Order: sequence, then structure tokens, then C-alpha cells
Amino acid sequence: MTSKLNIKRNILLNPGPATTTYTVKLAQLVPDICPREKEFGSMMKELRADLVRIVHGDPDEYTSVLFCGSGTINIDVCLNSLLPEGKKILVVNNGAYSSRAVEVCQYYNLEHIDLKFPVDELPDLALVEQTLRANPDIALVHTTHNETGTGILNPIKEIGALAHKYGAVFTVDTTSTYAMRPIDIKEENIDFCMASAQKGLMAMTGLSFVIGKTDIIRKSADYPKRSYYCNLFLQYDFFEKTGEMHFTPPVQTIYSVRQALKEYFAEGEEAKWARHTRVFEAIHKGLEELGFKDIIKRELQAGLVVSVKYPDDPNWNFEKVHDYCYERGFTIYPGKVSGTDTFRLCALGAIDEEDIVNFFKVLREALLENNISVPVMYKER
Ligand SMILES: *Cc1c(COP(=O)(O)O)cnc(C)c1O
Repeated sequence: MTSKLNIKRNILLNPGPATTTYTVKLAQLVPDICPREKEFGSMMKELRADLVRIVHGDPDEYTSVLFCGSGTINIDVCLNSLLPEGKKILVVNNGAYSSRAVEVCQYYNLEHIDLKFPVDELPDLALVEQTLRANPDIALVHTTHNETGTGILNPIKEIGALAHKYGAVFTVDTTSTYAMRPIDIKEENIDFCMASAQKGLMAMTGLSFVIGKTDIIRKSADYPKRSYYCNLFLQYDFFEKTGEMHFTPPVQTIYSVRQALKEYFAEGEEAKWARHTRVFEAIHKGLEELGFKDIIKRELQAGLVVSVKYPDDPNWNFEKVHDYCYERGFTIYPGKVSGTDTFRLCALGAIDEEDIVNFFKVLREALLENNISVPVMYKER
């Protein structure tokens, strides 16, 4: 590629999609191809193996299954496909993404227990165990690794151990940790994890994937089929038989993912995590300098999302601050944490410390420009 296309580089500090590299953007520009061609099939086969490799899964034991959709499709697929007749799901819920899993249960009329904990605290493992002991019909335990709404990191290894002790399958929403925080699927007691291309992999939107135990998928062939499009076994089986996705895949996104995987393995798990950590530390440093306060105790944070309290300054106006930053190429993201207004700064994507330093220069300007006092003010704490 000799002549560069002029594509502006935006720094996305929202919780995905993430900033992508120039080469990943460009990888989408390919000759038109029918995805039923063998050439495309062999590319997907390699890609599926790479997705398992990222979580250090033994290819004889674990597989990955691709879906065309955003990350939520994985939650839908896992919960509706992996529950045997007459059994129950336990959702260990301390945030918005586990609440989304509860909604999936509601929409499919799946028997479930919504075991709720405060969004700024870790789940009480004794209560999880007590619930499992009292409900021997729980066949599936689900939780979220990094609750992206708050940035809290859940103890999945411990929850997985409890699920297994009581004979349940353990599914984890790892959408906002996969390919960022190092994960060893077996070590962490995960049966199924999931993500989508636009987060840790730093590729384009439209491809999501579930990674998990092949024998459990095969066993689920006999479970009730509750969805035509979103069934894990059907999609897996079609892949195994034909090497293709059952329905049209997101062709150009898959090319971007292939390039993103090359770049992932070239950067390396450790170096990539070190980079995200650098970015995360720079976010904290910048926030501290401006006097901002975060919601979640630092030691509970997953290292990828910082949830920041709105200052109590009468001139504070998120919209205006956002727009000022946006016009200069930096995207910040609003949110609510149990009634408290917040915004989020995330360490995802193809960005580094220097981008964060530049962002905070712009954020400081945005505050001063809007007559918001620096350092920012809070009534209490
Ligand atoms: C981003 C994300 C999802 C998926 O959200 P979509 O908007 O459907 O892509 C699911 N779970 C977690 C934890 C996430 O961070």
C-alpha cells in the first residue's frame, strides 16, 4: 500500500467500538467475494482457531462459533441455547450487562434467578454458593467479567469453581476483557466466554463470537431450540459440516478481524495488556490532576474503564464538554451508575499514553471554555 487514504484518526474513549489501526481499516478494502467460496471458508477456519488461541484454549477441547451481530447476540445465544429442559439459570448480577442477561432470560421465558448485588461491590460468593445449594436445578451460571458500565472486575474463577462444584455450566460475558486482560479459559473455570470484534480485538463492528467447550455444545443438540437464528449448536454444526456460517457473514468485517488478529499476535498478549495498563494509568493521572472522582474503588477496577462522577459545578454540562472534545477528535461517553450521573473513559483500542496526554489538554480547555472551575468541584467526599 503506497498511497495513503486520508482517514482522520479519532481517539475513542467510549467503551467500544474502539480506535482501530490504519491497517485494520484498510483491510476491509478487498475484491468482492462470495462468502460461500472455499477461499473465504479457509480464512474463517483459521480465524476461529485464532480466537480460541487468544484465551489459551486447547483446540481439542474448545471451539469458537461466529455470529453476525453486536456483542449482545452472544449473551442471547449462550443463554437460550445452553439451558436443558426443566432447568434454571443463575445470573450473578452486579451491573448493567448482567441485567441484560436477566432480560434475555425474561424474553425467552427461561427459568432464572437474578441474584443481585450492589453495582459498586463484588458479588458475595457465600450467597452464590447458598443459592446453588438451595436450587439443585440450576444448570447454568452466568456473570460478567468486567462490568463495562462501572469498570468493576468480577471474580470469575471463584464463581466458576462454585458453578462446577454444583454441576452447572459457567458462561461469562468477557466482551470488555477478551484480547485485553490475559485470560486462560481453563484456568479461570470458564466453559463459555464471548466477545465481539470491535472491542479488545480492535477490529470493525458486526462479528461476535462465543468460545467454549465443544462437548457441551454437542450435548446441547438435544436441548430445546428456542431461536432459529441464535442457536449455538445449529451454528456450530453448520460450520463443522460446511465450513461456512449458516447465513451471510459480515464479509468485510471478517477481513478486518483477520488483520486485527495478525496485529494482536504481533503485539503480543503481555505487551498489549501493558499498553492498556499504561493508558489506564494515564487516564487516572489526568483525572486526578483535574480533580475528578471515580465511582468504583480503585482496587476493584478491571483496568479498562474509569467511571467518573459529574462535578457539582453549576456550569458543568456534559453535552458541551463532550462536543468540544468530539470536535477535536476525542470521544467521551455518558452513563448512569445507580442514579449517579457519570461519564466514562476507557483504555480500549489502538491508542497509547500520548493520546491520553493530548486528550487531557483538550478536556482542560473544554472545562475552562465552559467556565467550569479547575480543579473541578464536588459538594462532598
Ligand atoms: C460491549 C459489551 C457488550 C455488547 O454490547 P453491544 O452493544 O451489543 O455490542 C456486552 N457485554 C459487555 C460486558 C460489553 O462491554
